Amino acid sequence: MTIKTANLGFPRIGRQRELKFALERYWAGKASRDELLGTGRKLRAENWAAQKARGIDIIPSNDFSFYDHVLDTAVLVGAIPAAYGWRGGPVDLDTYFAMARGSTGNPCASGCTHAANDSGNPALEMTKWFDTNYHYMVPEFERDQRFELTHNRPLEAFLEAEALGHRTRPVLLGPVTFLKLGKTKDSDFDPIDLIERLLPVYVRALAELAEAGAEWVQVDEPCLALDLTDKDRRALDLVYRTFAAEVPRLEIMLATYFGSIGDNTSTALTLPVAGLHVDLVRAPQQIDTLVQSAPADRVLSLGVVDGRNIWRADLAGLFRRLQPLISAHGGDRIELAPSCSLLHVPIDLDLERALDPELSSWLAFALQKLDELSLLARAFEPGLANPEQVFSASNAAARARLTSLKVHDPLVAGRLKTLTAADSQRPSPFATRRQVQAKRLSLPLFPTTTIGSFPQTSEVRQARSLHAKGELSYVDYVAYLRRETEQAVRWQEEIGIDVLVHGEFERNDMVQYFAEQLSGYAFTQSGWVQSYGSRYVRPPIIFGDVSRPNPMTLEWAAFAQSLTDRPVKGMLTGPVTMLQWSFVRDDLPRSVVCRQIALALRDEVTDLEAAGIAVIQIDEPALREGLPLRLADRRAYLDWAVECFRLSAAGVGDATQIHTHMCYSEFNDIMLAIAAMDADVISIETSRSKMELLGAFTGQAYPNEIGPGVYDIHSPRVPGVEEMVHLIEKATEGLTPDQIWVNPDCGLKTRGWEETRPALVNMVAAAKALRQRPTVPLREIVRA
Ligand code: GLN
Ligand code: ZN
Repeated sequence: MTIKTANLGFPRIGRQRELKFALERYWAGKASRDELLGTGRKLRAENWAAQKARGIDIIPSNDFSFYDHVLDTAVLVGAIPAAYGWRGGPVDLDTYFAMARGSTGNPCASGCTHAANDSGNPALEMTKWFDTNYHYMVPEFERDQRFELTHNRPLEAFLEAEALGHRTRPVLLGPVTFLKLGKTKDSDFDPIDLIERLLPVYVRALAELAEAGAEWVQVDEPCLALDLTDKDRRALDLVYRTFAAEVPRLEIMLATYFGSIGDNTSTALTLPVAGLHVDLVRAPQQIDTLVQSAPADRVLSLGVVDGRNIWRADLAGLFRRLQPLISAHGGDRIELAPSCSLLHVPIDLDLERALDPELSSWLAFALQKLDELSLLARAFEPGLANPEQVFSASNAAARARLTSLKVHDPLVAGRLKTLTAADSQRPSPFATRRQVQAKRLSLPLFPTTTIGSFPQTSEVRQARSLHAKGELSYVDYVAYLRRETEQAVRWQEEIGIDVLVHGEFERNDMVQYFAEQLSGYAFTQSGWVQSYGSRYVRPPIIFGDVSRPNPMTLEWAAFAQSLTDRPVKGMLTGPVTMLQWSFVRDDLPRSVVCRQIALALRDEVTDLEAAGIAVIQIDEPALREGLPLRLADRRAYLDWAVECFRLSAAGVGDATQIHTHMCYSEFNDIMLAIAAMDADVISIETSRSKMELLGAFTGQAYPNEIGPGVYDIHSPRVPGVEEMVHLIEKATEGLTPDQIWVNPDCGLKTRGWEETRPALVNMVAAAKALRQRPTVPLREIVRA
């Protein structure tokens, strides 16, 4: 039998990040619209050619985007909020970018990915695409939302490929998933209710594709991997019945990914579509049910190569597992594909010249994954005497990885085995710790602090890059950083901050800085993946057991503390965030890898304590991001995530105050877990919702101390004293005053000193004003 190979989507950014540079030139007014469009065309042509060269039979089109494919879909169907001044018809590029970036085009770059709310037309909101680290622009719908086909870009992409000699399968984001990803603007209604209005626009786009000769389209409905309501299921039913009736000539490959379709299986199988793609990396077991229950004529696209991670697939294992299933279903109705679009992995491993060759032999980036698919398909070719011979290189790599000493550190494994529940338990409960800490720290009511980083000015970044290039000696670089740190400490003392930070001037990135100092991590030179728009990241690779050979932050913390009598807060990135923002090895459960990181951080925490650091913050901005897509899986995740945080923190005595920080405030559904982390103090983002989101913490919900951000660092605006006083007063409505800390809502690294200085001076003034004010309902002040 001959088995076809298919791809669901190729990275858009270009091997050399051409798209980023073209966008930035265009935004800066240094390149014309035609130049930008030309770069897009060139990248698409290269991507199609590369996929063909790798032997892929079914190549996607319309997977390219200048910014984001959800935004593209909103623009395709005319879901453009009135504020952008669009009057119907094709949407010009500048309207498109205004929706993406706001008219000031200045998104926050601090690791949390909020759109800026500078003055001017704001960007659409941005949020995570399912449980990936890719962010999409959230479409906004009105109750009487109208849709129209503005410009059939999928058709244009299909024809562009045809002209280059490629018969492609255009990709569209499915209408049900599109609506479910959106939010309603002023009134409260379910966006799914708009399905009947949206449907004709999709029908027209598809009909035009069919008219132009497209035989297949890929319609992505990853919502099938979520918990769906009956209404969602009815909408799916309506959509795909309508497509079958109105555009009967067009075959639809309905693509699901990021998890098991689980209880949506019968919905998916009864939809009148020609093909179904499933993710067999996240949910390998679902293939058995599908082969048993799928209609005989249904084409099954098997997502067997991991589109979310950078490891080589176990091709021999896949071959053995798939063989009986494929014979059962019929090889002519099978496609082999990546689990999801390859958007989430870097493009080409061959660009990595500096990577350890052994590690490199275990990896596959987008192009190598396409090779794997071709290889796997070849093994199924009829008449092959020894199909498994096809996999010899792949097998050898897998065997080496299994036993490599680079991967397996018996000390780490041994330490993990001896862990007991007591290891993730502080010696005393919060009430006791609080007394001991209050005595040691003697802080005023409404203590002030910041989240860690101070402005990473171009000077700081330049010093780092000169040092990296060897143009600034280590000694001079460190001397420079010490001067910056000392200035920051002096300045904080001067303006009267209570708990100081050292400023994080030495850090390139909150994850990479630590990863570079831990064993078990590796880094790429060109392994870029899109985080959002023109922002790409190079996630570190966790390939082996993680441990901490040497202290990581101790010198900086101790140096800063030596300069002042006020407490300096030690600053660490938490285990869950270190995990979430990396490519994680696939030969251990994520929970185990996270525990290893937690133990490494625990060593740092206890070293900081021993050096006299009384307050230590362990940032976990990515904790919520790790939440599984299905409700039923969340509990297990939160259990180990919380345990790992506690493991990293619990090595210290009662007198050491543990802080944590999270860059968001949607805690309603995970409040028990947040409380279970048992940090002495948590700082969160609440300034933009004007403390409204603090609701989850009020009453008995959160027993420990809280710093609800009073200064929105995502904007250059300097908040006034009264404004911050007002926010803190609002916080006292639900929290007791002695529970409240006063701080900005995130780190200040993306801000300049011009705005940071006056804002923090005002913040301290606000706290001081409140300490004087008798109007604050002081209920139980233990700190007095
Ligand atoms: N301590 C970090 C900083 O201030 C926290 C950043 C974050 O939570 N994204 O930069
Ligand atoms: Zn933050």
